[in-house]
Amino acid sequence: MKAMEQSKVEEFIEEKQISPKAKLEAYLATSLKLRPASQITIPAEFPSGLQMGQQIDENVKPQLTQLQQIRDMRARAMAVQALKKLLEKQFETIVEDSDEYRVHYDWAKKLELKTNQIKVRPTVHELYFYTERKTGGNINKLMREREKIRRKVQRKPGENVNSIRFAYPEEFDYKWLLKLGAELGYPECCVKQYAEDRKNNINVEARASQQLVELVKDTEIDTHVYYTGYFFPCSPQCENALKQGYKWQETFDELHAKLGELYQQNIYVNTELVLRQPELIQKYLAQFKPKAKD
Ligand SMILES: [Zn+2]
Repeated sequence: MKAMEQSKVEEFIEEKQISPKAKLEAYLATSLKLRPASQITIPAEFPSGLQMGQQIDENVKPQLTQLQQIRDMRARAMAVQALKKLLEKQFETIVEDSDEYRVHYDWAKKLELKTNQIKVRPTVHELYFYTERKTGGNINKLMREREKIRRKVQRKPGENVNSIRFAYPEEFDYKWLLKLGAELGYPECCVKQYAEDRKNNINVEARASQQLVELVKDTEIDTHVYYTGYFFPCSPQCENALKQGYKWQETFDELHAKLGELYQQNIYVNTELVLRQPELIQKYLAQFKPKAKD
C-alpha cells in the first residue's frame, strides 16, 4: 500500500486480537510489498488459538470415544465421516464465529490485502494474504496441486512412505516447494537447499538448528537472517536472507519506531525457535506415542 497513515499504523500496533508476529510477517510485510504473499494457520496462530483447539477437542470427545469402540469397518467409516462433519461445524462456530476471526479479516481489508482461506483439515485452515490478483491465482493453483499430491500418496503410499511423508507428501515435492517458496518471497538459495534436504531425507529443522549451534560457538549471530518465521535459511550467514532481513527492518523502522522495536524482538524469537526446533518437534511427536502405563 502507499503511504500508510500513522493513526492507522498506531491502531494496528495496539490491536490485541492479532499477534505481533502475524502483524509484522503476514499483514505488514505483504501490505508493504516486502513479499508477494504470506500465510497464517488458524486457529493455531490466533492469540486464543490454543483454547479454541482445546474447546473443539472437548466438544467432540464423546463422539471420538464412541468411534474408537466401533469394530465394524463399514460402521466405522460412516462414523469417521460424521465426525469430520461435526469437526467442520465446530470450526465454524468456535473459530469462524469468533471476534478474533472477524478482526483478522477486518484488518486484511483495512490494509488492502486480499485473502484466500484454504481448508487443510476439518479444524485447520490456512489463511493467505496477498495484494496482486495473479498471486492469488498462483496460490490457488498450488493448493490444488497439493490436494492432488496428497490424494496420490493416500491411494498408493509406495514403499518408503513413513507417517510424515504420508501426511505431508508435498513437503517432499521439489518443484512444488520451489513454487511455494517463491510466492512467500523466500530467497531462492534457501528454498533450493530446503527442497534438496527434504528430498534427501535430511531433517531441515535439525540441520538449521545444528548450523546455528556450530556458528554460535565462534561468532556472533545476526538475527536478521531469520527475518520471518518457519523459514530456514540455507546458512545462518546467507547473504540473501540477511538482505531481506535488513530491508524489512528498515521498512518497519521507517513506518513506526515501535514497529522497528517489535521486529527486533520478533527475529530474536525466530532465532530462538530455530535453535529449539528439534526439541519442539520431539514434543510434537511425543503426543502420538502410546502412553506408558505406570
Ligand atoms: Zn540462502
